[in-house]
Amino acid sequence: MEVKIIRSEKRKRGMDARLLGDTMIVRAPSDIPEDKLQKIVENFKKRFERRKRKKELSRKVNLVEICHKLKEEYFNNVINPLEVKSIEYSTEQTRKWGVCNSRNKTIRISHRLAEMPNWVRDYVIVHEMAHILQPNHSKKFWKLVGRYKLSERARGYLIAKGYKDTDESDIENKTPNSGEQDETIC
Ligand SMILES: [Zn+2]
Repeated sequence: MEVKIIRSEKRKRGMDARLLGDTMIVRAPSDIPEDKLQKIVENFKKRFERRKRKKELSRKVNLVEICHKLKEEYFNNVINPLEVKSIEYSTEQTRKWGVCNSRNKTIRISHRLAEMPNWVRDYVIVHEMAHILQPNHSKKFWKLVGRYKLSERARGYLIAKGYKDTDESDIENKTPNSGEQDETIC
């Protein structure tokens, strides 16, 4: 990514950046100190790169489609029908493999999963989908996840990749509709 900095006398404070093709155009006040400018430019750059990577990832695999298929396969006979409103990659998760918001029915999974075998990625999706029904790591939750046959192997794989395994002590402390905590971070 190329960076073009335009310093403006008129601009008193604040900076903004936009992307034009592969060039980031930054507008800054003329009197901003160089080191401060570079720091802010770096942050803009990171933000744009993250956004770009995310876009590329979602083009490569259609997570919504995969999610739909897994839902058909593993959740078609649950008592409460499962609904997933959105699923996407997140580039902000490096230690956690997924976040599920059971109230909004949204799922975000770590972008690192895109480079892992499909059966590992699928495990995480099943895991997060199960959290929409069970926002905890209770026995009921693991029973749902256990429908996916490669669960244990996938957990081992993720731990080996440096992800912290789900906390086994986090059992039954959250129930659906408790209203306290809608997000389950795994
Ligand atoms: Zn979990």
